[in-house]
Amino acid sequence: MVRETGLYDELGVKSNVGDAELKKAYRKLALKYHPDKNPEAGEKFKRIAYAYEVLSDPKKREIYDRGGEQALKEGGVDAGSFHNPMDIFEMFFGGGGFGGGRARERKGKDVIHQIKVTLEDLYNGNTRRLALQKNVICKKCDGRGGKKGAVESCTGCKGSGMKVRIVQLAPGFVQQSQSVCGDCEGQGERIKAEDRCPECMGKKVTRDRKILEVHIDKGMKDGQKIVFNGEGDQEPKLEPGDVIIVLDEQQHSTFVRKGHDLIMRMNIGLVEALCGFQKTIQTLDNRTLVITSLPGHVIKYGDVKYIANEGMPIYRNPFEKGRLIVNFLVDFPDAKKMTPKMIAALEKCLPPRTEVIVPDDAEEAVLVEYQEQHAQGAGSRSHGYAYMEDDEEEGHGRPGAVQCGTQ
Ligand SMILES: [Zn+2]
Ligand SMILES: [Zn+2]
Repeated sequence: MVRETGLYDELGVKSNVGDAELKKAYRKLALKYHPDKNPEAGEKFKRIAYAYEVLSDPKKREIYDRGGEQALKEGGVDAGSFHNPMDIFEMFFGGGGFGGGRARERKGKDVIHQIKVTLEDLYNGNTRRLALQKNVICKKCDGRGGKKGAVESCTGCKGSGMKVRIVQLAPGFVQQSQSVCGDCEGQGERIKAEDRCPECMGKKVTRDRKILEVHIDKGMKDGQKIVFNGEGDQEPKLEPGDVIIVLDEQQHSTFVRKGHDLIMRMNIGLVEALCGFQKTIQTLDNRTLVITSLPGHVIKYGDVKYIANEGMPIYRNPFEKGRLIVNFLVDFPDAKKMTPKMIAALEKCLPPRTEVIVPDDAEEAVLVEYQEQHAQGAGSRSHGYAYMEDDEEEGHGRPGAVQCGTQ
């Protein structure tokens, strides 16, 4: 049982969360609360990064599960081994991030977008058109901001872009503070109003709408990145950053993906389980598969079977596919509809029951319908039952909860 759930709550996940789901949760929140997109949410961004760092590291997670945040602070993990939130973000998204690393100062910012994709998109491949606004170097003035020679050093800050203010707090006590120069907005240079480029108003860049065609290849997966090199904002004297598209796989109403495999569950009636059946399955590319269980083949509740080569296509090798795994659930007949005659007839068909010897001093006990409670031990990851339930719910969430993947 975990001691506290604060870090799990921070990421909106349960304490039995697996690696893939944890990554997905972090990815979503980190993009949402990144300071570039949400400057007010700095604290939240830090907490998310911290939670992810702890929970994605089996050692730290174990310490946290056993003793909570206090235990992390008190030892076991030395504070120096934690990264700053930006580093975590950059490690996660692979280099660049929004801001670019210190080593990439000559390159502009990368822009990260997440797009929702359906399992059908990932199975069949798809092309999405994504419109984005970006800064481009002004074509009229070639990024100079005005006429040739019109650019002059800012007098307000002497070209440094920063203004230093000295404030006298008390006689003999002065405080020096630095701020971005308002005259030139930190650029260090100015263009006289009458010399400014009419197109960009002296800003050197203009806003432009750009359509990107995002090719989703067969077999791509949740979290996969598609990089458009040099499609980020343009800035004078800088190499433009990249636009990075991150795929966000939406839940499907029938299938759950696990690597190359697709998993589904199928309800069959008791008569089908015992006497055979034919069933159809609609594939993600809209073919109909028919499966047959012959009379004499009994399918039990919880039986798992698979169909080879009907899972997800393998990325860059799409003629190979994973398995389609079918979990069978057997629906038993409604007790109210069972007449004594039917029961007698069934009894004749089925193998005889085993005789039980009841001793004289046996005590009568009553069976009561069992309801899952918020039982002790429900939080421990090794403990089975409650979680099997959870997993199933996750995979087969109500179809109504599936969001459509329009962008
Ligand atoms: Zn211009
Ligand atoms: Zn200035």
